[in-house]
Amino acid sequence: MQWESVHQGAQTAGDAQAAPAAPRQRLRRGEGGRRQLVTATASVAAAIPLMLGAAAIGRAHWGAVLVWAPLSMAMSLFAWAALQLGWTQRWRDPALTAPQVAWSIGSTAACYAMLGPLRGAALPMLALALLFGIFALPAATVRRLAAWTLAVYASTLLLMAHWQPGRYPPAEEVIHFAVLLLTVPVMALLATRMSELRARLGRQKSELEEALARIRELAACDELTGLHNRRRGSEALQVHRARALRHGGTFVVAMVDIDHFKAINDRHGHAGGDAVLRAFADIAGRSVRTADTLARWGGEEFLVVYETEEPGAASAAAERLRRSASELVVELPDGSSTRLTVSVGLASWRSGEPVEVLIARADRALYRAKSEGRNRVVTD
Ligand code: GH3
Ligand code: MG
Ligand code: MG
Repeated sequence: MQWESVHQGAQTAGDAQAAPAAPRQRLRRGEGGRRQLVTATASVAAAIPLMLGAAAIGRAHWGAVLVWAPLSMAMSLFAWAALQLGWTQRWRDPALTAPQVAWSIGSTAACYAMLGPLRGAALPMLALALLFGIFALPAATVRRLAAWTLAVYASTLLLMAHWQPGRYPPAEEVIHFAVLLLTVPVMALLATRMSELRARLGRQKSELEEALARIRELAACDELTGLHNRRRGSEALQVHRARALRHGGTFVVAMVDIDHFKAINDRHGHAGGDAVLRAFADIAGRSVRTADTLARWGGEEFLVVYETEEPGAASAAAERLRRSASELVVELPDGSSTRLTVSVGLASWRSGEPVEVLIARADRALYRAKSEGRNRVVTD
């Protein structure tokens, strides 16, 4: 897990988590498309020996079959090349499903026109071509494909009944068309239902993902200050440690505690104390860099992790934070205002050191800062 901008509020972190989903989805769609393309190509290819067989037994014209076969494969091969070479990578349908289905429908109509007495065999092939679209395409496209099917077959039946009334008796063609008129719209309707169901499931999934991201963020967020809470702070410490181990760098931990906070509470009430906590969180949030971590460790105690190669830079940053806290005048809900100071205990991570030991050293330094008079930074 990356910890960019770990000190920022829950909303921002939630958005950041949602953002990388898009390329992953595109990839998944691309993979699904590739699998579907393999199945579509295989079934188009399987129709070729069937047509050759029909030609061999004299039910189809050899010349026509030999023209039809490469044309029939052309669209699959084109879609294959487009997917392999990434031409269609950014398209909504990178596997060209709709054009492939439309082409295959035309291809089965061509078979119908070639097969004569065997033409009934073209109809299950048409159903197969439509099936590819049913599971993958949006409802509007399925409806357009159904209309395309009826138009292509109506033209084929009319033409064949006109040209070869002996092989394609008009009365039989009327019945064939009636069968298509019944089955194709029903298939389209079922496909539409399926596609609506899929869209609803997709919507529900993304709503759940959003809710989960929000819950995760809330579980890691301190309600009062909007900073990361102790749990997220501890996780971030582990991330800083892992990064330092991997890259050989280091980091510095600062335990920051507001001085005499109890007195602020006593003087201005709990709401006054809360206002001071929020005001301090605000300036601390603005003082740390995106690579650093800021969390409310508990009560009036905050954890800062400075990601740095140079421990001196971290103590300068802690000193700047201490000074800006001491210069702050906090307006309180009771109309008065108050000032505050903080004490800071600093400890630099020693290679291999567990974070618990590091925190204990920072706590010890904080204790010394308190006992030496508060409003100061002490390094362990
Ligand atoms: P020191 O300088 O030694 O740190 O003294 P202190 O008074 O700051 O420390 P102490 O630990 O005695 O008091 C901390 C107080 O912080 C006690 C607790 O009631 C108060 N506190 C803890 N969480 C909150 C909170 O969320 N809101 C408010 N208003 N007060 C809180
Ligand atoms: Mg305190
Ligand atoms: Mg304290």
